[in-house]
Amino acid sequence: MSYDSALVGQGERPKEILVVDDTPSNLRLLLQALSSEGYLVRCAKSAALALSRVERVLPDMVLLDIRMPQMNGYELCQWLKANARTREIPIIFLSVLNDVEDKVRAFGLGAVDYIAKPFHIEEVLARVEYHFQAQQLQSQLQSENRRLHQKNAEQQRSLAQMGQSYSLLSQVLDSLADGIAAFWAVRNQQGDIEEFEWLLGNAAWANRVGRSPAELVRAPLAEALGDCPSDDLFDLFIQVVEQHESLQYELLCGPSGEIPLWFELMASRLGDGLVARLKDITQYKQVVTQMQATIAELQVLNAQDGLTQVANRRAFDQYLQAEWLRLARMREPISLIMGDIDQFKRFNDLCGHAIGDECLRRVAEAIASVVKRPADMVARYGGEEFAILLPHTDLQGAAQVAEQVLSAISRLRLDVPRADCEQVSLSLGVASQVPGVARTLDTLLAEADTALYFAKGQGGNRVCLAAPAGSSSDVSGGGGRAETAELAVCDEEE
Ligand code: GH3
Ligand code: MG
Ligand code: MG
Repeated sequence: MSYDSALVGQGERPKEILVVDDTPSNLRLLLQALSSEGYLVRCAKSAALALSRVERVLPDMVLLDIRMPQMNGYELCQWLKANARTREIPIIFLSVLNDVEDKVRAFGLGAVDYIAKPFHIEEVLARVEYHFQAQQLQSQLQSENRRLHQKNAEQQRSLAQMGQSYSLLSQVLDSLADGIAAFWAVRNQQGDIEEFEWLLGNAAWANRVGRSPAELVRAPLAEALGDCPSDDLFDLFIQVVEQHESLQYELLCGPSGEIPLWFELMASRLGDGLVARLKDITQYKQVVTQMQATIAELQVLNAQDGLTQVANRRAFDQYLQAEWLRLARMREPISLIMGDIDQFKRFNDLCGHAIGDECLRRVAEAIASVVKRPADMVARYGGEEFAILLPHTDLQGAAQVAEQVLSAISRLRLDVPRADCEQVSLSLGVASQVPGVARTLDTLLAEADTALYFAKGQGGNRVCLAAPAGSSSDVSGGGGRAETAELAVCDEEE
């Protein structure tokens, strides 16, 4: 028997046993034996004395004789069990009454044990210790039970709180117009992501694909995206999860045959998965597309001559500047043809300004029909003057183009009431240079202008070429002014 079992707890007071018996020899024997085991023993010769002791100090156990004068053991037991303060104290009866009924009655009153007299003290000690241990185990069990109950209640409370938070979160998410969804990465045994599955999301997203959020739980990415293409997104989602990159991506969705919708998809990593937002940007895209179209139209209008629909002077100057620099880097030639309608003042005077305008339109059209390369540009340089810019073209090539223009104008017949206004002619001056440090854009313009002036001087309706750099004077057509003759050559008059 361990001495420790006589202690209420480690380092605490010893357990107190109240022995109630009207036989002094029994009291002595029990006092001695129990004390030697470390118990604190209190003796009472009668039930009344036991009660007054119990009212002052509660014992941890009562050993109770049944047959006593005045109040017997049963009555004392009943009193102790009826009292809330004393109800839990274990009671062991010690009695000479050894009938089954007595034992049954004792247990019926709430006793934990019954020892027949004459008792063997070893048996009493063994039973006392056993009941203390049983009581201790029971109280441990009860406190464990209480702890589990408490824990269970806490878990119930947190579950309820989680439920409330979840439904609040769902309400918040469902109130959003944009689709929100969380996906988790499904990995194979090698740890590679082989699918993304819907974890939770809101009604806006689910409705897009004709489902409810609950129906989409564990749905693969393609299903959650409905008619939006998912192949590229799968790879992009992997980058979000593995490379921790944020994603912003525009998706064109919709069943074939219907007007597609634009969505912006933004995603960022969340645990081993991601959270994504799907925003309908169709209206925004439409506005942007319209604005782009308007800007493009404005740019064209801004660069176009209102009367003739060829490029205007501003667009021409910008293009000439840019091409000059580009061809300087490439060491490639650029040619410029300046054309001017002959006697146009007279034409206007004879036929009127409106027919003059129509004439300008038709001349521009005729010039544009000759100039076909994408890099070439026809522009109205001013009044009845046109400029033709020919990148990557040398003087000889430009002269050919100028001759073709001259011939196109000669074939031009205007639908006018006066026969002497049916036809106009053009004078053309051609210059060409490989842009470089010594040669500036202004010299190209001046040379073309001089050649044009020279063509006018020769009577018009012809092409004159600016003399190539470094060449000596070589002029045909004679009779012109000496200073211009050194700078240009003209085609033979037909
Ligand atoms: P030249 O052969 O020397 O070039 O003589 P020209 O009469 O063609 O040249 P001038 O510079 O003397 O006159 C140009 C005329 O072009 C004067 C102007 O009325 C006319 N003109 C300029 N711009 C327009 C236009 O937009 N519409 C019309 N109808 N006429 C224009
Ligand atoms: Mg003119
Ligand atoms: Mg003129």
